[in-house]
Amino acid sequence: MSYESKMLEDLKMPTQREVEQALLKSLFNNNGAIKEFGTGEKIVEEIANDFGLNDEQRTAFLETIYRKENRVKKSYLWHRLLFRAADSLAKEKLVSRPTQTILLTNKKEWMLTEDGYNRTLELLHIPLIQKDVLPIRSYEVQKIVKKISKQARPENYNPFENKKVVKITQEAKLRNRAFSQAIKEAYDFKCAVCGMKIYSPNTLLWEIEAAHIVPHSANGKDDILNGLALCRLHHWAFDVGWFTLEDNFQILASRKIKDLPADFGKLENYDFMGQLSKNDLTISLPKEYDMRPHFNAIKWHRENVFCQ
Ligand SMILES: [Zn+2]
Repeated sequence: MSYESKMLEDLKMPTQREVEQALLKSLFNNNGAIKEFGTGEKIVEEIANDFGLNDEQRTAFLETIYRKENRVKKSYLWHRLLFRAADSLAKEKLVSRPTQTILLTNKKEWMLTEDGYNRTLELLHIPLIQKDVLPIRSYEVQKIVKKISKQARPENYNPFENKKVVKITQEAKLRNRAFSQAIKEAYDFKCAVCGMKIYSPNTLLWEIEAAHIVPHSANGKDDILNGLALCRLHHWAFDVGWFTLEDNFQILASRKIKDLPADFGKLENYDFMGQLSKNDLTISLPKEYDMRPHFNAIKWHRENVFCQ
């Protein structure tokens, strides 16, 4: 038995398999990515807490002797165990390594892959269908997010999808999740109209939705130039044509709002629908110009969905 395995046994450390499972759960709870394991990193402590490790287990270190260089390297046994577990998940292609992830997110993180995500949902007894609503990042989706966020902004943008790729393929599903994530991040999880920002009590689910300007039903593209982050009420009101946008991103409200019965469209004392008709109301936009909706998509919405 190696010096390391003997120490692991003597100290009654969790098994590598148990740590692998704890890592997958932790990845899930941290939206799909966790930082490299370094001293003082929150994640290292969090997982140790989950296992209820005592001080000795947390601080035991292993000495590796490099005879040639005549030096001794000390490393925490717990960090090594975490690293070995993550390394084994990476070999199984259930997570991406920090050296890979940094190319996508500029952060040294371990990130779930789609396979790792599936495995984690299984582990947590969450149906796979939930993938469409959970905001968990995966390496594959993140790649598309990067592509979507960095796409060129052509003068003559076509907001319609090429017919051939519309069928629901695995790739289309990933793209749909990437669209949703890229839009929500670009708008900082706030409704572009009212600024509402709220998540579920477990902090996993955001209320905000990624709205298509040219909808899927009209073959609209899943990309940032055809998207807008809206709360559920404003998403609905936009989709049914109660309001649209001018080219300068001012809100243009339907004239029919003033014909609504007095008790319609109000939240207690707040005139939800009337608010839309206020003059010079402009939506909040992503800071980066290239991530703002494209005029061609807005124009289509104005001409085809909006009710004057
Ligand atoms: Zn709103």
